[in-house]
Amino acid sequence: MRRKTKIIATLGPAVASFDGISRLVEAGMDVARLNFSHGAHSDHAQHLEWVHAACDKHGRSVAVLQDIQGPKIRVGTFPGSSITLEAGDDVTLLPGEQEAARGEIFIKYLDCVENLGPGDIIELLDGRISLEVSSTDAGIRATVIQGGKLRDRQGAAFPGLAVNLPAVTDKDRTDLLAGVEMGVDMVAASFVSGADDIRDVRELAGDIPVIAKLERTVAYRALDEIIREADGVMVARGDLGVELSWAALPRVQKDIIARTNAGGKLSITATEMLESMKESHRPTRAEVTDVANAVFDGTDAVMLSAETAIGKYPIRSVEVMDVICQEAERSPELHLLKEDMFIAHAARFPSAIAKAAVEVTHNLGIPNLACFTESGSTARLLSKYRPQADIIAFTNNEPTFRRMAGFWGVRPRLIGRHDTTDDLIVAAGEALIAEGVVEPGEHVVMVAGIPPNQGAQTNLVQIHRVGSGLKRT
Ligand code: PEP
Repeated sequence: MRRKTKIIATLGPAVASFDGISRLVEAGMDVARLNFSHGAHSDHAQHLEWVHAACDKHGRSVAVLQDIQGPKIRVGTFPGSSITLEAGDDVTLLPGEQEAARGEIFIKYLDCVENLGPGDIIELLDGRISLEVSSTDAGIRATVIQGGKLRDRQGAAFPGLAVNLPAVTDKDRTDLLAGVEMGVDMVAASFVSGADDIRDVRELAGDIPVIAKLERTVAYRALDEIIREADGVMVARGDLGVELSWAALPRVQKDIIARTNAGGKLSITATEMLESMKESHRPTRAEVTDVANAVFDGTDAVMLSAETAIGKYPIRSVEVMDVICQEAERSPELHLLKEDMFIAHAARFPSAIAKAAVEVTHNLGIPNLACFTESGSTARLLSKYRPQADIIAFTNNEPTFRRMAGFWGVRPRLIGRHDTTDDLIVAAGEALIAEGVVEPGEHVVMVAGIPPNQGAQTNLVQIHRVGSGLKRT
């Protein structure tokens, strides 16, 4: 498979069997997302087991991403599970999650909204229903501007208003501990507002990488500090499109991806990418263009949500995404060496080596770039310089092997422990020949940290002729 952009697929009832998940892996899923806003822990654990079994079957590595719900603002419940709101209706808003009486709507965290006043808009159900606050004198009253059917626990947002939300809810805490126990490879934290929230999640997630879901205006304002603290950023366009004006989304998406890539972190574009494929076996032209544009924007990964979790065509959605990405990647601009790009911060030295290695592959037209990595960070850095060459990332760490499946252009491989860098390079060359990736005598650019097994930073680039023992070029 030559595709470089990675595909994240959300698991759910539409693929809840070994066969369903195995077919997703076969179709090209690189990361399986477990959405902890829905489903029991036992369902997620079973899905994770099926992912691992499918990887064994297909000889692939697939990362498992646990998506925790975070402090999502939701309405409470209603008698009969729903109410129908008509434009012009007046309602009373109350803080909490209880069942509402007629004319009332409970909203979780309503009491955490700062400076709510007449004229403020409240968006429900991803903005499909809107209310305008009419008074806050004796309780909060609002008028329905755009009506519709509102069901139990659907989402609510207060565009432009600061909401003092907890970083990690009790549910998140329980879910995170369960995820760590199950062995998830990455965690996506929802509704973060700044770097402190990422640190709170990290405390529970241990050394599991944390992806910040960008879905609040306040988080967008804090993007630089979030990029520094998190391992990646997801453009969570569903909720972000409610908080910001949806018209701002394309511009903001480009900005988030560009800044995340420049910070050396993983960028993910999510939500409604192939939405019509929940019902239709083919995408709309606009969806095809949206996925391709995310690739042109430089995203590491594109994500499917309802399309694979509850849609009618989950496998085909992954196949369609695969084809769109491959076609988009034929664009020559994607592979231009960005001379002026340099990822500094904590990774200055490895970053300089990674950039140099990518330049060597460009200058010499070498199609394979191998690296040895314990944590995966060297592979991620190489990936950020967007080489035309395939990045074959060798590791002897199984979680790293799975995680790297989500990195643009990276093909993870397991390798045994070797005591010297020379042995490692020779063994990697032999593994590539055995796999048919290269012919004996071909050149591969190798990137490593010497001495091996001692946590040395990446500090070596070598042009290696595979199958020639220790002869260097
Ligand atoms: C989003 O809002 O785009 C998103 C990915 O979050 P959720 O998990 O709520 O779908």
